[in-house]
Amino acid sequence: MASVQILGAGVAGFALARELVQAGYDGQIVLNDPQGLPYDRPPLSKSLERVPFAPPQWFAQHSIELRDELIETPPLPTSKEDWLVLATGTTPLALNVPGAENAKVIHTASVAEELAQKLSFGAFGTHAVVIGAGLIGAEFAAAARQFGATVTLISNQELPAQKAFGPALARQLHEDHRIGGIRLITGQVQNITEHTVRVNDEELEADIIVSAIGVTPNVQVAQQLGVRTDDGILVDQHQRTNLPQVLAVGDVTRHPGERAYRHWEHAIEDAQIAASTIMATPTVQRQTPWFWSDRHESHIEVVGDFSRAKYSVERLNWQERIQISFGLNDQGQLVAAALADPGQDSDIMRELIAHGRSPNHSDLQNPRISLRDLGQS
Ligand SMILES: Cc1cc2nc3c(=O)[nH]c(=O)nc-3n(C[C@H](O)[C@H](O)[C@H](O)COP(=O)(O)OP(=O)(O)OC[C@H]3O[C@@H](n4cnc5c(N)ncnc54)[C@H](O)[C@@H]3O)c2cc1C
Repeated sequence: MASVQILGAGVAGFALARELVQAGYDGQIVLNDPQGLPYDRPPLSKSLERVPFAPPQWFAQHSIELRDELIETPPLPTSKEDWLVLATGTTPLALNVPGAENAKVIHTASVAEELAQKLSFGAFGTHAVVIGAGLIGAEFAAAARQFGATVTLISNQELPAQKAFGPALARQLHEDHRIGGIRLITGQVQNITEHTVRVNDEELEADIIVSAIGVTPNVQVAQQLGVRTDDGILVDQHQRTNLPQVLAVGDVTRHPGERAYRHWEHAIEDAQIAASTIMATPTVQRQTPWFWSDRHESHIEVVGDFSRAKYSVERLNWQERIQISFGLNDQGQLVAAALADPGQDSDIMRELIAHGRSPNHSDLQNPRISLRDLGQS
């Protein structure tokens, strides 16, 4: 019987299993993950909850075998009927300071649940120190504040997350932490103990210490098999690795010549493409990259890639807050946009970026000109 062995049941591994079921695959599908019933990562830093993708019956109904094993040396497929898919994701980077092991990292549901419990019990008396003000650190800091904790957020940069949101919106979002009652510190952490964090020669008392300073791809299994890696498993446009019948999907991958996109929707697109490779059906077309982030009252969606932008132009709302930050390259073409509470506007933005539109700056700034009309200018 034909088979697909999937290592890792994050959104990439799970979505591949679902796509295969939807496409009518009639071989055996095995999802291996030591974390058990597959669940979604984004809620971990926002509501600190475990949200399963599907109930156990769903997997049974579709004859998907769940194995809660960490597979270190999977056998390579021996026939053209069989596939091995690496969907092993990432691991958070550890701080390189004495006592780093005292800081929690938010990557698993068990840690998120433990933090939620501590925050619920301690409520207003709890002091949380968060190290790293990127997407996950910022979201957790806002969530901890929502739980009623006193929160200190430490960043080693004056303006964190500007590569994600562009500088202007990154500044506004960072300032929102202060408005939300979070103490912001710029500096390097010197050491950590069970209940303290030392930064800029100040000792902070803490009940909860969280570190969120980035991730590294889990390439160990791939390397052992002889799969080529370089800041991720290198894959072609069909998610094929350099080994026959071995595919890779999700955050663990990178396309040669591109930076690694480690976002939820990108992982799902990888899974859709891998499913079409296995089913030998036409490849799904990728869309312009998209991701979202929620903190305090803001829901932000980012389309395109701010690392390709040379400068940005802002559109403000009636409260003088940034509604859209447009990223443009040196020819004035739209390459990225970060939108606050956008509704359908992200889809329109995707089209504008995909068509390489170059609207004039006063139109971009004018909130009375709809995004659809920008496509005409
Ligand atoms: C806290 C948090 C919040 C996020 N919020 C957002 C957001 O708001 N918006 C957004 O766009 N993206 C967000 N992301 C990113 C998004 O969730 C990831 O892009 C996505 O989870 C990647 O999925 P993945 O399946 O590739 O990897 P992962 O989710 O990392 O899953 C990999 C799985 O592989 C398993 N595994 C590893 N090695 C083995 C092995 N040898 N054998 C078996 N199993 C193995 C692991 O246990 C893990 O379950 C967030 C990520 C985190 C951690």
